[in-house]
Amino acid sequence: MNDCVFCRIASGEIPATIVKRTPEAVAFRDLNPQAPVHVLVIPTQHVDSAAQATGDAGEALLGKTMRLAVEVAHDLGLDGPGYRLVANTGVDGGQSVPHFHLHLLGGRRMDWPPG
Ligand code: 5GP
Ligand code: ZN
Repeated sequence: MNDCVFCRIASGEIPATIVKRTPEAVAFRDLNPQAPVHVLVIPTQHVDSAAQATGDAGEALLGKTMRLAVEVAHDLGLDGPGYRLVANTGVDGGQSVPHFHLHLLGGRRMDWPPG
């Protein structure tokens, strides 16, 4: 989608600090980090949110995006201390960019419940 900021990051049209990439997903640093490690992991293919990732294609998209997030966490040394994966979904979930993404947060102790 041409008007989607994350599609434009995936295509290289908008610059971002890419951490890791597979054919199906891209991990890059969040512009406004909320923790010492704050990486966004997106599917290359546009889907508005997790709620729209349906059927076999949706299952593969969610799985491959999650897989890359877990690999990046490992690569960044977060397996030992731990980390948080978050998928804000829709208005009540606080989603501001309508292209499904996982937040990988680490490097500090997280609070629960989230705000
Ligand atoms: P959401 O609120 O949708 O769960 O998260 C969107 C995230 O995208 C926010 O943490 C925000 O800082 C990040 N973000 C928004 N625009 C850009 C951008 O152009 N580049 C990067 N790297 N991050 C962005
Ligand atoms: Zn998109």
